[in-house]
Amino acid sequence: FRNQVTDIKEVVNQVFSNFKMIHPDFTFSLDDDLRKATYVSMFRDHLEQVLIILMDNAVKYSQTRKEIHLSLSEDRRNAQVSVQDFGEGISPENIDRVFNRFYRVDKARSREKGGNGLGLSIAKRLVEGYNGKVSVESVIGHGSIFQISLHILTTAEREHLAKLQAEKPTPRAGEALA
Ligand code: ATP
Repeated sequence: FRNQVTDIKEVVNQVFSNFKMIHPDFTFSLDDDLRKATYVSMFRDHLEQVLIILMDNAVKYSQTRKEIHLSLSEDRRNAQVSVQDFGEGISPENIDRVFNRFYRVDKARSREKGGNGLGLSIAKRLVEGYNGKVSVESVIGHGSIFQISLHILTTAEREHLAKLQAEKPTPRAGEALA
């Protein structure tokens, strides 16, 4: 799985248009600072799954102000994707626990919304499985920003991995992390 080469720009843009289509009652915006394809070493379906988890939560927990802002940027070595909502937010007591398995801030309400408290723990495990980072900032009553950061492959790294990828068949979606 670590030998995968994925264009993060393409995946973010794809998830963005899918959500626009699925949730016409929401306003989605995307700030894409990347001028060209930007490659990270993550299995495409895993990256897509992580973004879906963050976007699903943004929708689920912002029923009053239905606005979601995505941004894609880079610094010298890393690509960052952030998903910002203007919904209910998370209190400081709860913020450190939202990535824990089965943790839900409001158990009764989350159950109503059909959650298990697993999404974020899976997202974190997937991103960290590729040496990436996840973080969150939130203000209760104002909204949250979840961010992921992944190492950008250099041209040499990408060529090396592309060669390995050509030799090995692509894993199927849903297969456990190697
Ligand atoms: P599921 O397993 O279906 O994803 P879930 O949404 O309850 O269910 P997580 O995605 O792990 O589980 O989220 C854990 C908890 O963190 C949620 O129950 C919710 O209380 C809180 N949370 C997650 N994202 C947000 C958000 N964008 N705004 C406010 N609270 C959030």
